[in-house]
Amino acid sequence: MFTANQNFRMLPESYLFSEVGRRLREFKEKNPGREVIRMDIGDVTRPLPECVVEAMRRAIDEMGHAETFHGYGPEQGYDFLRELILEYDYVQMGVKCLGAEDIFVSDGAKSDLGNLTDIFGIDLRIGVTTPGYPVYADSNVLSGAAGIPVGGGWERLIEIPCPAFNGFMPELPESPLDVIYLCYPNNPTGTSMTREQLTEWVDYALMCKALIIYDSAYEAYITQPGIPHSIYEIPGAEKVAIEVRSFSKTAGFTGVRCGYTVVPRTLEFGFADGAEASLNRMWLRRQTTKFNGVGYIVQKGAEALYTPEGREAIERNVAYYMKNARDLREAIISKRWEVFGGVNAPYVWFRPLPHGDSWKWFERMLGEYGISSTPGVGFGAMGEGWLRLTGFGSRENTREAIDRLMSDM
Ligand SMILES: *Cc1c(COP(=O)(O)O)cnc(C)c1O
Repeated sequence: MFTANQNFRMLPESYLFSEVGRRLREFKEKNPGREVIRMDIGDVTRPLPECVVEAMRRAIDEMGHAETFHGYGPEQGYDFLRELILEYDYVQMGVKCLGAEDIFVSDGAKSDLGNLTDIFGIDLRIGVTTPGYPVYADSNVLSGAAGIPVGGGWERLIEIPCPAFNGFMPELPESPLDVIYLCYPNNPTGTSMTREQLTEWVDYALMCKALIIYDSAYEAYITQPGIPHSIYEIPGAEKVAIEVRSFSKTAGFTGVRCGYTVVPRTLEFGFADGAEASLNRMWLRRQTTKFNGVGYIVQKGAEALYTPEGREAIERNVAYYMKNARDLREAIISKRWEVFGGVNAPYVWFRPLPHGDSWKWFERMLGEYGISSTPGVGFGAMGEGWLRLTGFGSRENTREAIDRLMSDM
């Protein structure tokens, strides 16, 4: 008799964005004709760069002719793309410890973040920052590693608190961890880690032989010096860290689907019995077993991002979204509300006055300003009282939102 995976029953009933959607529909029914500005979802609005569109068109033509047709590609990604990633995203940024064999092209960061649990041993002490991107905890719930829900958290997941009084930065845990999920610049709080702060975490991982899974989906949004773009800028990270990146937020690839994960051959981990393990070989085995690679057309589109035109287009996108985020931040500051983000990240994370719970303020933001936000508590209990706005909207909508926010001042 077939029975279904019990772990699915433990995932929270209503996912954050579906609850936001439900409340929005309810608001619109009660307030017909009122125009709501969506600043809740994290999706981008700028179209694909022209050079990407052209590269993909050419690739489609190749696919239509027997002489240039591409079938199954290498599971790890085409060499042409992995070499460019290595050169532009690492070597030219001063990271010399990696090779193209360490890079795995994927259909986006979320898949890899969700699938990495396949290479975890059992009974690991897994640390997730809170507030945080829900995929880290939820993928461990599905794999069974998180155990059962207890008091707003999980039996076997260890929350790494990022409290408001600490500027939403995580403090080093007192008890040792085996896996640590970090995401900087951070979604949802928009905070970033300095080189010194990230070095503490790499040193901690080296000391307790923990694996760091470093989500750097927003590295391109860093504007300040002294903020590392890659964890491999930190000495020793190549022994303890896997880095996950995405073209989604920089190049409009949210619907195209492409990213990459770095699993260095220099990682120093073993199996429970002490035998040496190559996570790089294991991840390749995992991908060749359950994944057949990213489409040729998509990888040709990603390749175009490393041309001068492509790099310029990314810079323009980042500048466009960051202006939105900075302007939102300024507006919130002038309301004398507490705010994080909008400096090295396209998100603005804020606590309106008077202080109240996140969902209550979600409703007030809708009612008073016609702005839809994301309640911070949806990213973990530590986010209670806070809201997230995205800079990924259009300039026009962002301006209108700012006018509305300032209208009662
Ligand atoms: C958007 C996002 C991702 C997912 O990116 P995809 O490549 O589109 O799957 C991963 N991590 C964080 C923190 C994100 O905000």
